[in-house]
Order: sequence, then C-alpha cells, then structure tokens
Amino acid sequence: MSKKNSAGKTPVNFIRQIIQNDLDTDKHDHIITRFPPEPNGYLHIGHAKSICLNFGVAGDFSGQCNLRFDDTNPEKEDEEYVTSIQEDVKWLGFDWGDHIYYSSDYFEQLFNFANELIDKGLAYVDSQDAETMRENRGTLTEPGIDSPYRSRSPQENSQLFAQMRAGEFENGKHVLRAKIDMASPNINLRDPVLYRIRHVPHQRSGDEWCIYPLYDYTHCISDALEGVTHSLCTLEFEDHRPLYDWVLDNISIPSHPRQIEFSRLNLDYTVMSKRLLTQLVEQNHVDGWNDPRMPTISGLKRRGYTPASIREFANRVGVTKKTNIVEYSSLESCIRDELDPTAPRAMAVIDPIKVTLTNYPKGELETLTVRNHPKDETMGTRELSFGEHLYIERDDFMLDPPKEFFRLSPGGRVRLRNAYVITCDEVIYDDAGEPTELLCSYSLETKGGKPPADGQKVKAIIHWVSAETAIDGEVRLYDRLFSEPNPLANKDQDFTASLNPNSLVRLQNSKLEPSLMDVDAEQRFQFERLGYFMLDSKDHQASKPVFNRIVTLRDAWAKINK
Ligand code: ATP
Ligand code: MG
Repeated sequence: MSKKNSAGKTPVNFIRQIIQNDLDTDKHDHIITRFPPEPNGYLHIGHAKSICLNFGVAGDFSGQCNLRFDDTNPEKEDEEYVTSIQEDVKWLGFDWGDHIYYSSDYFEQLFNFANELIDKGLAYVDSQDAETMRENRGTLTEPGIDSPYRSRSPQENSQLFAQMRAGEFENGKHVLRAKIDMASPNINLRDPVLYRIRHVPHQRSGDEWCIYPLYDYTHCISDALEGVTHSLCTLEFEDHRPLYDWVLDNISIPSHPRQIEFSRLNLDYTVMSKRLLTQLVEQNHVDGWNDPRMPTISGLKRRGYTPASIREFANRVGVTKKTNIVEYSSLESCIRDELDPTAPRAMAVIDPIKVTLTNYPKGELETLTVRNHPKDETMGTRELSFGEHLYIERDDFMLDPPKEFFRLSPGGRVRLRNAYVITCDEVIYDDAGEPTELLCSYSLETKGGKPPADGQKVKAIIHWVSAETAIDGEVRLYDRLFSEPNPLANKDQDFTASLNPNSLVRLQNSKLEPSLMDVDAEQRFQFERLGYFMLDSKDHQASKPVFNRIVTLRDAWAKINK
C-alpha cells in the first residue's frame, strides 16, 4: 500500500472521498488541513467536530493539521483564550507538533498582498462613512452603488493605504476595499472591506499595527501561506468561497487551497455561539466557562466526559452538508456507552434517610465482599461494612405508596443490594411530621440474594450505605441548561429567559461508601442506580468530596419531556 493511501479504509464521508481522490490522482502527495479558531472564547462541542475532522483526516492520511489562531480582531481576543484552546485541543487527544501559527504573524505579508491588489487596480481606499457604505451595498434584489472613491488611482490608493498604516487617520475614516463588482448577485463580492483602521493594541503585535485585515481576506491567504491543501469550514462560508478564490487568484501566491464546507454541529437545549456563551459567563448565569452544564470542551471535561467519548460523538454525528439539530441525548449515550463497561461501581446515598435494624446485633459490623463490576470479574472486589445503622435514599421509601411502588413502605420489604432483605416495621417522625428514621428488621437467611423464609418474591433492590462507615460528601446533579430545545426560537425575549432553573441540584448531605474517599481525580464511577459520577475538579476537598453526575444510567429525560 502506498503511503498516500495510508488511511487504509474506505472514505467515510464526502470530504475524505475528495481527499482520497486528490491523493489518488496526484493532485497532492501530502495533505495539510488546519483548525483556525479565533481566540475570543473557549472552545465548544461544535469546535470539537471541526477539530476531530481536521486532525482526524490529517492523521488518517498521514498528513498534517495546523493549529492556527485567527487573531485579527484584537478588541475581542485574549491570551487566556489562546491558552485554553491549546489545552482543549490537546485534551481531545490531538497534536499539532510544531505547526502552531497565528494570523497576526502574517500581518506584514497580508499588507504586501494588499498593496499588490492596489497596484493591479483591484483594491481601493474608500472614504465613505460606515453608514453610507452599508446603504450603498444594495440588497439581495437590488445591486449596490459604486462608491465615488472607487476610481481613485493606484498611486493615490497606495499613498492613502500607507498613511492608514502610519496611523494618520482616526478609526473609521477610511477602509481598503477589494474592487470586484458592486452589482454581483453575491453580496460578498460587492467590494468587500479588506482592512479597517482600529487604534487598538494587539495581544501579540502590540502597537505595531493600527489597521487590521478582515476575516475573508486573512483566512484564505493564511491557508495558502501555510500550504494548506484542504480548507474545511462550516456551511455559512459557502457564499464566501468565491471571495476566497478571488483573493488567491489575484495575488502572487503559489498555493491555492480548496475550501470545502460541511454543516455545523447544532445541539438541542443549548447554545453554541461564543458570543452567547460569553454572555452566560459574564452575567454569572453559570460558574465560568467550565461550568459542568456548559457545552464547552472545558465544561464537558469538568462534568466528567472523556476525550474518547467526545471523539466518538463527532464520529457518530458524521460530516455532511445537511443542516440539522442533534439531540443532546446522543452526546450522553456516547459517554454512557463508554462508562458502562469500564466504570467501577460504588454506593452513594445522595438524599439519605436513616434506617435502624432493630434485630441486628448491637454494635457489630460485618464485612461484605462485593464485586466492583457485575460483568467484569477482572475489576476485582471491595469490602463494605454492614451493621445496625444504614442510610437509604429518601425516595426509596414511601409512606403511602401507589400499587406499582415496590420499594420500601410501612410493613413492606425490599432487598438491600449485596446484602439482606429488610422489612419496615415502624416509622419515626420529626415535629413537622416528616419521616426521619425507619425502624426495620433484617432477614438473616436472605444474605447473598437468597429468598426470604416465606418464599415470597421481593421485587425491588435498593442501594444503601452503612452509617458507621459512610463519609459525607456533596453530589451535584445536572439537567439541560435550557428548558427550550431551541433557546433562540423566541425572538421576543433574551435567550437567557429560557435557562432551566433546575439545571443544577446540589445535595450537600450525601452519604458515600468509604472507598470514595481519596479517589483519583480522573476516576469515573457508577453510583448504583444513580448514574455515572466523577469528582468536581474545582470544588472537591479531601475532607469532603464533591461529585458531579456525568450522566444518568438511562435516558429517562427523553421519556419525561416528550
Ligand atoms: P462561534 O459562532 O461559536 O463563535 P466561530 O465559527 O466564530 O464559532 P471560530 O473560532 O471562528 O468560531 O471557529 C473555528 C473553527 O471551528 C471554524 O473553522 C468553524 O467553522 C468551526 N466551528 C465553529 N462552530 C462550529 C460548529 N458548531 N460545528 C462545526 N464546526 C464549527
Ligand atoms: Mg468565527
């Protein structure tokens, strides 16, 4: 097999097919892609799709993927974002090697290419104000109107452009525009702005520049300077492709990458634009960019998602040109599918009620040996203490249960996982009339799953922890961040109005089995019957662990809300 075909597998999407074909026909013998974030926010799961695609195809075809910061808009950009983006890409499992670039490193070259366009009569300095320019751009049905400055000579343009660079004009006084066609049916070709004046220092180039190139102009040239072969971007840039090609066709640059568009990832019950995510952070609707409810990579990481589960999600979502909205639950099934076979089991009672076994030998504790995984013996066993005092979940008990409730109720029986069947003999109440303790008896003969002496079936099994050995912890349960599938649907209200007020529930008096003390920060557990959990990287303390629920055991949510 030749190196070029080293993917060794059938291309699985239209982009891989194009690349395979370009290698087979010797159009390229080596492919280069790039992931080009603007450092104006943290990466989200939509970016993960683009990262997995760009780094994924480069890896599979023995090519290269560059990480390029598209940093041409200093007002919104920050070094914090540059750092977080690198961390997130690495965490996802990708490596750019030495190929880290910044569009700002190309400012001088971009300036020279602009002068080339000016000299060729293909760019001019426009001195209309922003408002007039907007009005004269025309509409989808009407052509635009030529600027009175459109016929400036190359000499005059080049003089003015040099003065723009030298800082002789205030913001907005002039812009440099491409001279294409004010009547083009594609509005992107109606003399797009290439440069504007912004007297703002840049996080990398400092005060060196006061004119900054715009995205459409910068992006194609940056791609070409890096020798990118396939420039993969989302569908909203389809109408920009003629401009991408126009710029490269009209400057002296040997390479001409091919732009290919694919549909962006949309997820329901969340928002995925950095502008909106920034608003959530700045207005304190969430606990920072890495709030476990955020669709950011850092939020998913803190929530307990693994890099593999996110890559698997990108894989399942696929790459097409069809715009659609993916259900949040399909992201959840990726982590569930990974953790079910791998996560050791543990018991935690997150909202406890006390149980006292009145017929258990006073002051004694026995040791039960239980398996860490019901289906995987290689994961070993651990020891649990069992004694007179226990905790069970408050909602595993009902005073006045409906017929289909098979857990504990006055006079009723239930099996404790890995232990005995117990019968509730008496309920103790507090002054407010709330049950505070259940006095129960246990049936010795039922140990290890054996039936009670009367032979009757016990229908439910619940989890528990021994009160003598339990540790105190906090457990955080998360739900969808928004109550609406599309938080942006209602144009009459700000999207924050549809934030889900119940998206975070903190259970601060949880009782955990002692093996959950001092666990590895990266270790995920299945808490029996409750879901998958991992320590919160920000708030957990050695003296009081804080666990985040990554995901429930089943997709109960879909059933309730549909
Ligand atoms: P946002 O609209 O969320 O702010 P953006 O497109 O402005 O995102 P960039 O930093 O410019 O953010 O994005 C870097 C790359 O990630 C681009 O190539 C972009 O097409 C891609 N990307 C951004 N959002 C998505 C998404 N939802 N699905 C797939 N790719 C995306
Ligand atoms: Mg962008």
